Amino acid sequence: MADHDDHRLGDLYCARCRETRSAPELDRNLWCEFCLSEARRIAARTGYVAGGILGLGLAAWIWLVQRPSDLVVGGWMATVVAAFWLGSRISREISFGAQRYKHRPR
Ligand SMILES: [Zn+2]
Repeated sequence: MADHDDHRLGDLYCARCRETRSAPELDRNLWCEFCLSEARRIAARTGYVAGGILGLGLAAWIWLVQRPSDLVVGGWMATVVAAFWLGSRISREISFGAQRYKHRPR
């Protein structure tokens, strides 16, 4: 049996940073470890910003339009937290997917 580790398939490189890598260092989308963690970091940050804007916007709307009484303000706060959490999760997924699409292998 041929040793696959010694078998060179030609120049394999990361689809994102374009640095030459060996096959085991790349995932199925031809991204290296560094690019993957970098994309996750960017996606997480984008998610927090988008979630924060959504949460703040909702909080402002509740505060200015709904004018909550002290009795229900806890419920509104839970709504704002839920909006932030959901918003950050969704935009993180969208951001990661967009980066994957932009730097897809071709
Ligand atoms: Zn890379």
